[in-house]
Amino acid sequence: SLIVEQAGARRQMPADRQFPRTTRLGSMAYDYLIVGAGFAGSVLAERLASESDLKVLVCDRRPHIAGNAYDYHDAAGILVHKYGPHIFHTNSDDVFSYLSRFTAWRPYEHRVLSQVGNLRLPVPINRTTLNALYGVDLRSEADAARFLSERARPCDPILTSRDVVISQIGPDLYKTFFEGYTRKQWGLDPSELDRSVTARVPTRANEDDRYFLDAFQAMPLEGYTRMFQRMLDHENITVMVGTEFADLDRKGLARHTIFTGPIDEYFDHRLGSLPYRSLEFRHETHDVRRMFPVGVINYPSEDVPFTRVTEYKHLTGQVHPETSISYEYSRADGDPYYPIPRAENQALYKQYEALAREHDDVTFVGRLGTYKYYNMDQVVGQALATYRRLVAKRGVTGKL
Ligand code: FAD
Ligand code: UDP
Repeated sequence: SLIVEQAGARRQMPADRQFPRTTRLGSMAYDYLIVGAGFAGSVLAERLASESDLKVLVCDRRPHIAGNAYDYHDAAGILVHKYGPHIFHTNSDDVFSYLSRFTAWRPYEHRVLSQVGNLRLPVPINRTTLNALYGVDLRSEADAARFLSERARPCDPILTSRDVVISQIGPDLYKTFFEGYTRKQWGLDPSELDRSVTARVPTRANEDDRYFLDAFQAMPLEGYTRMFQRMLDHENITVMVGTEFADLDRKGLARHTIFTGPIDEYFDHRLGSLPYRSLEFRHETHDVRRMFPVGVINYPSEDVPFTRVTEYKHLTGQVHPETSISYEYSRADGDPYYPIPRAENQALYKQYEALAREHDDVTFVGRLGTYKYYNMDQVVGQALATYRRLVAKRGVTGKL
């Protein structure tokens, strides 16, 4: 049985963390099947395997671990992110210290410039942006705040991604920086998107040009994939990449499934399809040391087909005579990358969530599994909370 197989290998754990092995179903090969080896799946695999000493099978349809955070050395030997720029930032001590078990860090504060005509201007919009764009000389935060409030158009209530920007900075700046970018990125006008989308990008009256203000801003020193390898490197974890959930013979495989793919896919779209936005990337290497002054240039104009370009050496700090960049094109079809935050989609997700509650053999987690526009740190926090909930549930019901 499993218990005999594992007896020699089991580590000492606090009693309250030990699962009652004697109640386990001896016929199952694994305690957990985890679908997806991104942050959601890998954090849960690590916790269940190392903290609770459970046997976990992780599968991912992609030929690699790390989900959307996957990075690799390209043909030139430059560390790039296959699925676009991933910058780690968080205000959570818990999340940062948890991940720090699996990686050292390189401090990195992300900066973005937006290409407006011939100008490259800081985004989030700050005092420097205003002075350069309008040829004015706003000298203090109060000056800049006044300048913005004179342009702002009050909206009540603030419901959409258009409302939230117009009410802060007015129609001109909205059109210049947000309207075209958002239409390209989502295939929708900002007035058709929940306010939370553009609210991710603030406006500042000072000269702080950092994209994020979080307490912790850093990149995994040897890259994301290396960090994931360390998380998943455990005797209780088996990883199968290039493996579709639907292709697994699940008879006798695991007592419980954790699904981090699209929740509507799990249920065969039976309530209808949840919309996701997809991306396409064009990667290039150039024979120069550096192409851009910062890691990412945004292109808000609808005349330009891509939304942003990333030069990875800024993010990673790698020293190399050449440089690799990627262009990001937004797509309606293809792999799901973004849930699309708007009321009707949320309503459909809620129906799937209710359906999920009727199934106690599966737990949904992650950006696609819970249809939430989450950053990496939020997914890690959600996965850690899910682990605690699974442990607590087992305490009450005696089964996990
Ligand atoms: P994923 O990483 O998507 O992992 C899910 C995995 O499940 C995938 O690998 C998929 O192949 C697999 N899967 C799905 N269905 C199946 C199936 N049926 N069978 C087998 N396998 C399956 N966050 C930040 O904090 N900072 C950033 O700078 C940042 N930049 C981003 C840039 C882009 C372009 C994108 C798209 C996202 C960015 N994010 C960023 C968000 C970050 O990618 C996510 O928060 C995080 O990767 C989500 O982790 P996850 O495990 O939920 O999902
Ligand atoms: N956005 C924009 N112009 C910009 C940057 C962002 O209009 O220069 C809007 C756009 O709708 C985008 C959203 O703000 O999808 C969130 O931006 P963020 O950079 O957080 O997007 P992500 O990195 O998640 O793709």
